[in-house]
Amino acid sequence: MDESAIEGRMKAWIVNFHVCSKLAWWLMVQNFGATTVRKWQRRINALYRKWLGLAQPAEPSVLFRSNEHFGLNLKDLVEMWRQTRVVKWHIMKYAKDPQTRKVYDHRLGLDQKGHIGKGNITSPALTIERIERSLDFERIIGAGQLGRTGLGFQRVSKKLRPREHIVARMKQEAEENRMVLLHDYQMQTNWLHWGLDGMMKKDLSWQAMLYQYSQRLLKFLINAQSNTLPSPDNLRRWKLNRSAACGLCGSEAATLTHILAGCPWVRHSENKVCREDRYTWRHNNLVALVAGELNDHIQRANKLEKKSARHLIQLVPAGTKPRHRYQPDASCGWLGDANDWVADWDLPEFHSNASSYVFPHYICASPLKVDGFIVSNSSKVCIILEFTSPMEDNLDMWNTRKKVKYSELEMEARKNGWTIRSVFIEVGARGWVPQRVFAGLRSLGLAALAARRLCKRLSYLALKSSYIIWINRFNKEFHPWRLKDQDQKGGDAGLAKAEKKALDHVAEKQVVNSTFLREGKRRANNVSLPEDGPVSNGGLSDVPPNSYAMLKDLVHGMQKNLDEKARSLLPQPSELCQEIDNGDRLSESPQPAERDESFDKIMKLLAKPHLPPLRFTDS
Ligand SMILES: [Zn+2]
Repeated sequence: MDESAIEGRMKAWIVNFHVCSKLAWWLMVQNFGATTVRKWQRRINALYRKWLGLAQPAEPSVLFRSNEHFGLNLKDLVEMWRQTRVVKWHIMKYAKDPQTRKVYDHRLGLDQKGHIGKGNITSPALTIERIERSLDFERIIGAGQLGRTGLGFQRVSKKLRPREHIVARMKQEAEENRMVLLHDYQMQTNWLHWGLDGMMKKDLSWQAMLYQYSQRLLKFLINAQSNTLPSPDNLRRWKLNRSAACGLCGSEAATLTHILAGCPWVRHSENKVCREDRYTWRHNNLVALVAGELNDHIQRANKLEKKSARHLIQLVPAGTKPRHRYQPDASCGWLGDANDWVADWDLPEFHSNASSYVFPHYICASPLKVDGFIVSNSSKVCIILEFTSPMEDNLDMWNTRKKVKYSELEMEARKNGWTIRSVFIEVGARGWVPQRVFAGLRSLGLAALAARRLCKRLSYLALKSSYIIWINRFNKEFHPWRLKDQDQKGGDAGLAKAEKKALDHVAEKQVVNSTFLREGKRRANNVSLPEDGPVSNGGLSDVPPNSYAMLKDLVHGMQKNLDEKARSLLPQPSELCQEIDNGDRLSESPQPAERDESFDKIMKLLAKPHLPPLRFTDS
């Protein structure tokens, strides 16, 4: 796998979904020791680090944590080994055969006396007993009421069988252990303070990792999260470059925050030039994305017929069923009050020199420049949209500051008979989106799905902009352009499936040309590629897979190669015949017979009545 020429994240995908799944069966049917499995895990860990570009000093749990905890959710072999052992003993415990059940009881008795094996803290039997007790206890307590839903509301969770419950609990415990270990790190885990409760979970699905992010962007993402990028302060900490400094202002104490959001050179010198400075550029990318989405949304909302009175609570007479379980999004949120909404945005592409962007003075004469506003003259409501993209650590501070800033404006406008509402759209420089952004977009009447999708796009766009800022950290001649995310799903929906496939194919070809043949650096794959001509990767397709189907084919190809190799290592049927002929001398290594005769020979042997029955096993 390591030697093939596909990209690192795809190798990780294959190891995670193919190799680890295959290994799960062997872990189940064989008794491997903890040391062996740990050795394999270390090997896989090292490869994951290499393939995904995780820095050497970075703590490894980011690979295995769940998506809620901003991890990549890869399979942990040692955990899998523990789970399969528990599953095995659970099968024994509830076996139909009384003898087998007795084996379990005997094992449990031994374990309870402390004979759980050298160096082990717990045993599968003890784990089963402990988890079963705690699950029973939870059943007695019952499901409590959570959140803001009404009494009697119950989230329907997937029904699990007892064994699945135990495995789910083990996974949960493993995740908790990983989180506990994180608190030992000072530098890498400051996202714990602001990330766990306040942020929406990132889109680290395989769909995004394989098709949305590029290999380099993914590398930037995971290293930026754990603060292990080669920023000047880290280079000095790792004793790699003692004289490292910011490439723009020359500051020696430059951190990642400094480069992505706080370099004084950008703030004081670059924004004097007549082009956008890089931080404003990232900010304006976000404004442009939201402006495009909301302009469509406003047009739609203006066409809708508005209800005069909105029923917030629909009462349901006793004995009848509610007509809609969930309220449809026909109310348009704040846009439901009028039909003459007009939006304007503080973006250079929407304004020429003759018609510069101003906040309407009849609402409130203010020198404040908001990033965008949606205004309705008939209902005298103005919705202010304010964007920020600071480092995640400072999101709350900026939120408070902006709120204070606009409360003044709100008071002034109220004197003129206007109502001001504000939506703060904040996206962290590393792509984290606070929950309140989602709530803000919802209040504008965006459907939940659309709002969530917009949040994901904002996150991606902020991350990509920051990545471009990062790679331009030594470049003072930064030329901004309007960055777009690659979200073409809406456009593709109308295309027929076959057409889309054809397009995919074209895209693949382009990827080959740009990734493998043009780029100068090829160390990431650790293969020396010829300058031109087809890329060699062991007889496999030289096209990087662009769809699950292609990955599957690749896996099958590799599996076939492996199977052939394994078959050549196994004893040939003729050798088996020899063994049977030799009778007592089974332990000695037999002489291989002629291959072309082997078939006849084995048939002859099988025809003999006095032979013991042949047993063929996989091994
Ligand atoms: Zn600087």
